[in-house]
Amino acid sequence: MIWPFRRRQRAASTPELDPALLRQASAGLPWLRGLDPTYQQRLRILAAKFLQDKTITPLAGLTLNPVQRLRLALLCCMPLLEFGAEGLHGWHELVVYPGAFRARRSHMDAYGVLHEGEQELIGEAWMHGPLVLSWADVCADIAAPTDGYCVAVHEMAHKLDALDGVMDGTPPLPRAWQRQWAADFQRAYDALCDAVDAGRDTAIDPYAAEAPEEFFAVCSEYHFSDPSTLRAAMPQVAEHLERFYGKPLLTR
Ligand SMILES: [Zn+2]
Repeated sequence: MIWPFRRRQRAASTPELDPALLRQASAGLPWLRGLDPTYQQRLRILAAKFLQDKTITPLAGLTLNPVQRLRLALLCCMPLLEFGAEGLHGWHELVVYPGAFRARRSHMDAYGVLHEGEQELIGEAWMHGPLVLSWADVCADIAAPTDGYCVAVHEMAHKLDALDGVMDGTPPLPRAWQRQWAADFQRAYDALCDAVDAGRDTAIDPYAAEAPEEFFAVCSEYHFSDPSTLRAAMPQVAEHLERFYGKPLLTR
């Protein structure tokens, strides 16, 4: 009696996506063009789970049709092709603004002074809360998929980073790999910070020098949207990300 019950449960836990909807949503995403059947299947299951688990909330007058919702799910699940559905744990909502949004933020500086102010953001990932995206920026990433930007991937990298309870630029990994990752990322991050401090041009967006967690998120964007620049600038980081995310889906 146990086995049939289990089978019904498993069938219910991976809902099927409408094939016509999936075709339309995938056709708009350049990253999925060369995806082999094994990964296509993985992505389908992940996106179905995403749509089942997450509430997608468009704000400020934005409306999203089913194709656009599925496209968001597919984009957010691209970084999970190797990691798997555990990468969706710990949060329940994707909030989507029509464009860049203003957010009131505060941070404590090294002297213990609390600074508050408004910032213009295109994406945000709360430690235990929603993932927030600007729809205009998601569309701009899709229109220029090899420019080094992908806000959905950036915010998903923060969500993966946060899975072990700290946003520090290192997602949960097997111990030996985590040690190597931390050492290689730290070295590349320090070199980038030195270049930025010295006013030198950097191969990747200097925003990555803001903090180790931003470094991981920005390098993740390059893995998906400009992998050859990442590989040339930081081969060890590129190698870790290939192992973590799988081979780059686009090559320049
Ligand atoms: Zn970030």
